[in-house]
Amino acid sequence: MGKVGIFGGTFDPIHNGHLITTQSVRELRNLDKIIFVPSFVSPHKPNIKSASPKHRLNMIKLAIEGVDFFDYSEYEIDKGGISYTVDTLQEFKKRYDELEFIIGYDNIFTFHTWKNPDEILELAKIIVLKRKSSIPRSFIDKFVKAATFVQTRGIEISATDIRERVKKGMPINFLVPEKVKEYIYKNNLYG
Ligand code: ATP
Repeated sequence: MGKVGIFGGTFDPIHNGHLITTQSVRELRNLDKIIFVPSFVSPHKPNIKSASPKHRLNMIKLAIEGVDFFDYSEYEIDKGGISYTVDTLQEFKKRYDELEFIIGYDNIFTFHTWKNPDEILELAKIIVLKRKSSIPRSFIDKFVKAATFVQTRGIEISATDIRERVKKGMPINFLVPEKVKEYIYKNNLYG
């Protein structure tokens, strides 16, 4: 049923950049909803220690509470191991008619190195988030050609920056939803 946007990532933590951008993608692409899918272990960050999957998932739940066009899935966390997009999309294809898989700008240029990229293309349309600050690239392959680039509101927030700010004792107001901020402090994350 329906056309949904799948947004995968580490979400360590989810932040307003993710939320503002995907809200805009939903409108631009006419999607029923956006599903946030936190990875168990990202294939791109296998050696990076992140907050536990439970914490990352809880922060997503708090961030999207009450927003009916945002949803989350525990699929990759329940499955465990390295979270490959192709496996996740195969599962979601059983539940929805049309999938749009949303990725950040830089990711499309390394997409050919992902597991089974051709199969990913068969399962979903690839939507690439282009920001005004995105540096144009000359690299073009069949995946770049097949992708749909969407110009979103550019919100320069990164999870790395938020983690570093918490570590340094700097405020993270307005970068993450209030409830996510409280959760981070209550659970001593990133300290
Ligand atoms: P980190 O800094 O830890 O790498 P991140 O916020 O860049 O974190 P993820 O949590 O893995 O990364 O993000 C999930 C997806 O969101 C990725 O495709 C990433 O490119 C994209 N993304 C991250 N920040 C933004 C932003 N401010 N605007 C648009 N897309 C973003």
